[in-house]
Amino acid sequence: MPSVLPRRIAVISVHTSPLAQPGIGDAGGMNVYVWQTAVRLARRGVEVEIFTRATSSSDEPVVRAAPGVLVRHVQAGPFEGLDKTDLPAQLCGFSAGVLGAEAAHASGYYDIVHSHYWLSGQVGWLAANRWGVPLVHTAHTLAAVKNASLATGDTEEPRLRIVGEQQVVDVADRLVANTGTEAAELVSMYHADPSIIDVVAPGADLDCFTPGDAAAARADLGLDADETVVAFVGRIQPLKAPDVLLRAAAPLIDAARAEGRRPLRLLVVGGPSGTGREHPTALADLAVELGVADRVTFLPPQPAERLAQVYRAADVVGVPSYSESFGLVAVEAQACGTPVLAADVGGLGVAVADGLTGVLVDGHRISDWGNALEKMLADPQRLDAMGAAARRHAERFSWDRAADGLLASYSAAIEAKRSDRHARTGRLRWRRRSRQEAWL
Ligand code: UDP
Repeated sequence: MPSVLPRRIAVISVHTSPLAQPGIGDAGGMNVYVWQTAVRLARRGVEVEIFTRATSSSDEPVVRAAPGVLVRHVQAGPFEGLDKTDLPAQLCGFSAGVLGAEAAHASGYYDIVHSHYWLSGQVGWLAANRWGVPLVHTAHTLAAVKNASLATGDTEEPRLRIVGEQQVVDVADRLVANTGTEAAELVSMYHADPSIIDVVAPGADLDCFTPGDAAAARADLGLDADETVVAFVGRIQPLKAPDVLLRAAAPLIDAARAEGRRPLRLLVVGGPSGTGREHPTALADLAVELGVADRVTFLPPQPAERLAQVYRAADVVGVPSYSESFGLVAVEAQACGTPVLAADVGGLGVAVADGLTGVLVDGHRISDWGNALEKMLADPQRLDAMGAAARRHAERFSWDRAADGLLASYSAAIEAKRSDRHARTGRLRWRRRSRQEAWL
């Protein structure tokens, strides 16, 4: 147990509510992260208050979401019609809502501010400063990393975001990174002080995502028992590259059809997100263009229990993303005993044990993906062995462990704040100077 435990924390999650269904729009792994860690921190005796933007007139200002977990819906701008890219203009209004919530209580109400994503980091910066408590920040994704490996036709993240991220990195008391790779990126691309970075691996809900009967799962989902199933799960946008998986699977679908072999089905679960919202039918159109529309099934975003059935029904789950700070889907699939075919980018190299629990593919060449998928599917015995190893591998990533990691980070932040105010001010001044020089 860490030496100093916060009594109550303010979690800032401006653009994504932990109560939203993930897998569409801006709701994805971050929602799951915020929710799962909040519940586990609360079980450890920490009161958690999550601030998120109200996106519907029916959002109650305060929701008691779980024992010890409050969700505060802050009104900042119109409920609907705002894109994530519009939110920088609402940060002042959002901050006012956050500060107002604390002002209603006696002073010293929160011991830590934990912000998620750079928009929240901007709000957290102000709140932590005002309350005199440490700011712990998790970036989840970094614009500089995303821009370095963009999908064809995807839009660059704006400089405004990089500058905003940099400011948060500069002022945060501690930074939480998902993997050592992300920690290294924070240092090399954002000049973060390595001594304030904690690497805390996210997890999977190991009670919900368990191995199970594939045939029963298929029956439950209305899928044929006598097919090979490859699944894609997640927000449908160029960054996630579902088209790469589809293009790789299409010749295998054709070959199985031509040779009268066991048919192959691609199961796609999720909804349009990010720049994918500009052409919401692009993937379905591509399936038609490739002549495999009858072998591709689309399901809208599914709740976790149903998603577990999707993973169990699949022979292989594909995660072809261009960048991924971790990749919860990869761990969840493995927790269900399903091997993963993933791009060798970001945290996926940690989430998947290459050759043991799945296969990592370098780059996004369709022929490489097709060959890797064909090889995996051609060896059912190897797939079974990978599935068994996958569950064991996934057990290394629990949300309980993640919550313990966060508590250690909070504790370090509180202690450092108490003992090191002057040294930190000096360090900040030094970093601001070097940052200004870099911007010039
Ligand atoms: N998810 C879900 N239902 C869906 C699709 C996805 O609940 O239909 C969840 C999934 O379980 C995972 C998260 O969305 O926890 C996606 O996280 P990941 O890290 O894979 O991608 P991100 O959305 O963070 O880019």
